[in-house]
Amino acid sequence: MSEPFRFEVVARDGQARRGRLSLPHGIVETPAFMPVGTRGAVKGVTVEQLQDLGAEILLANTYHLHLRPGADLIARAGGLHRFTGWPSPILTDSGGYQVFSLASRAKVTEDGVVFRSHLDGQSHTLTPESVVDIQARLGSDVAMMFDQCPSWPATREAAEAAMSRTLRWARRARDRHQALESGAAPEVARPAPGQAQFGIVQGGTFKDLRDLSVQGTVAVGFDAYAIGGLSVGEPVETMYDVVGHTAPQLPEDRPRYLMGTGMPDDLVESVARGIDLFDCVLPTRNARNGQLFTRHGPLNIKNARYAEDHRPPDAECTCPTCRRYSRAYLRHLFVSGELTAATLNTLHNLHFYLDTMRGIRKAIEFGTFDTFQRAFLETYSRRQISSLE
Ligand SMILES: [Zn+2]
Repeated sequence: MSEPFRFEVVARDGQARRGRLSLPHGIVETPAFMPVGTRGAVKGVTVEQLQDLGAEILLANTYHLHLRPGADLIARAGGLHRFTGWPSPILTDSGGYQVFSLASRAKVTEDGVVFRSHLDGQSHTLTPESVVDIQARLGSDVAMMFDQCPSWPATREAAEAAMSRTLRWARRARDRHQALESGAAPEVARPAPGQAQFGIVQGGTFKDLRDLSVQGTVAVGFDAYAIGGLSVGEPVETMYDVVGHTAPQLPEDRPRYLMGTGMPDDLVESVARGIDLFDCVLPTRNARNGQLFTRHGPLNIKNARYAEDHRPPDAECTCPTCRRYSRAYLRHLFVSGELTAATLNTLHNLHFYLDTMRGIRKAIEFGTFDTFQRAFLETYSRRQISSLE
């Protein structure tokens, strides 16, 4: 049997934690950022490139993989690791967020969600139990419970209903997960035993609902906990406020995962509030739209001012793109629609995110996170920068 789930906090600086997460397919140094490989691939880059960038864990989307190619096919292939060639840890989300945002005519009942596939219109049902089974077949290292994320803005009634339902689903998901782990459902193929399961805290922007959700979810007893339902359109100060209120209430000895966040400064601000794990499509999606993240802020490579700018995107960046290519060339590739543009821009953005996390981890170890945070936020601008000097 492979390494069991384990988490150790090795250093603290204020609320910030430097940890080490052991999973069946390897160790993840935290705080960590998980690049998003929606359909079992991080768009535009290869597994080798992700390894060279120092990525230690990827996120894959249960909704997309369930619809195509299907969890049974992936189980027959030996699980996601064998299927994709990525040997290190993988976290699969629950599919809940995609069901509510991508599928058409999603209908939620106490049992689960009936929806039509965005690919072919076929009807599907996801329940707290079937989502556990799908992720067991995928063979990820971490499976997320099926939750109901209310859209933003949500009334108190809507946020409370989604939070309460998520709690009831938490119990069902945990029971099913434990049944699979104990071998009680041999009909479900489990290519990678030892999978951990994370619970999800909901409650929108209502702090008392977050409190109830934390208490109820922790009482169910998951391997670790995530904060869901943020970064869905609320003001960033509200998000920081809810994270700062919620994260310290989660068990000290378990990793805390802030789902779907965020901009580079959000990562720094959330680590300061006690978060250990992140995922977000921004570095990869924005790369494909020509936006490069730098220490000073985002740079839009399609801007005409870069047409004859022969400097690298960021002179101090050590990524494979900045070491070799100029803004002028990257702009040319982008406006010409060359596939290489997506690859080179993605390599730079992921390097920037992963390198920011390396800097965060080092600063916590040295007890200088406060200084790191102040310097980062002073230099970084959320607004598009016109030019890097
Ligand atoms: Zn770079």
